[in-house]
Amino acid sequence: MNGNLKSDIISCLKKHGADIVGFGSIDRFKNSAVSHIYPDTQTVIGIAFRVLRGSHRGIEEGTTYYQYTTTGVEALEENIMPLAMLKACGIIEDHGFTALPQRRNQLLMQETDSTNPEMDYNEIYRGVTQETQLDFEHCAVQCGLGELGLHGSLLTDDFGPLQRYCFILTDAKIEASPLIKSHLCDHCGKCVSACPGKAIAADGSLDRWQCASYYKGANMSRNPFMPPEAFAEDPDRVAIIAGEAKLTPERAREVIDQIIFYPPIKHGYVSSICGKACDMACYIHLEEKGVLNKQFLTPFRKREEWRLSVSI
Ligand code: SF4
Ligand code: SF4
Repeated sequence: MNGNLKSDIISCLKKHGADIVGFGSIDRFKNSAVSHIYPDTQTVIGIAFRVLRGSHRGIEEGTTYYQYTTTGVEALEENIMPLAMLKACGIIEDHGFTALPQRRNQLLMQETDSTNPEMDYNEIYRGVTQETQLDFEHCAVQCGLGELGLHGSLLTDDFGPLQRYCFILTDAKIEASPLIKSHLCDHCGKCVSACPGKAIAADGSLDRWQCASYYKGANMSRNPFMPPEAFAEDPDRVAIIAGEAKLTPERAREVIDQIIFYPPIKHGYVSSICGKACDMACYIHLEEKGVLNKQFLTPFRKREEWRLSVSI
């Protein structure tokens, strides 16, 4: 059914920058926000866009830090994804169906008082329920885009954890893509140990406030912009800058407010100083195992991971 529509959608999305397109039939989304957002939904279309491996190069080298957030987060979320979705939605509506583009709203959280490391916590809209937006990770899996790794990132055969994604809800019935059986994540634990702030527990669960502090660079050994006097008045200074502090949401807010060593990115995205070390450790692991489809002439990690001394 709608065979031409499906191929038209895929070719349009790929023409506008999408790398992976998958389709999930509505029966895969029971008890999700899909039917709440658009009760007539028959198909969820998952669309993944690669984050360039090269966008991570600067943080890997400890040289340029804007590039990951600007080209790996902001440009995809604010420009590439909306354009591709709108064009594909236009094709669906040309066929007489309705199409709802669903981009991540970085200011809406799935849980009350949670946060998003990519945003200034002051801007998060708190107290809303998860029905206000899709569970992106769950939807990506149900659309057949990939599997979830231990730390919750979507892993795909092409790019490992290096992609971002969005969705289109439509009342068109379109043949579903097969679900991907988990085969990439081998529970090596490297994503857990790579975090400079111990924000990921051994079981893979993420403390988002801890992540927000260390994403922004609270660990001195991984932040070339942190001056020696940073956190001078904080009684937990040594534990914080060594990445050993266990932060409550209240303490995380205080720590984040003191991390003013590197400017934010326009559109309000916070600059990543950790460089998503969890994802990169996973990527390096999968690359070393040779299980990713996209191969490169040289390995991503070329030198021993750098660390700065922690001045106490
Ligand atoms: S680093 Fe290892 S444990 Fe973590 S998601 Fe990747 S493969 Fe799984
Ligand atoms: S490595 Fe960075 S993004 Fe990953 S959990 Fe730690 S602070 Fe968060």
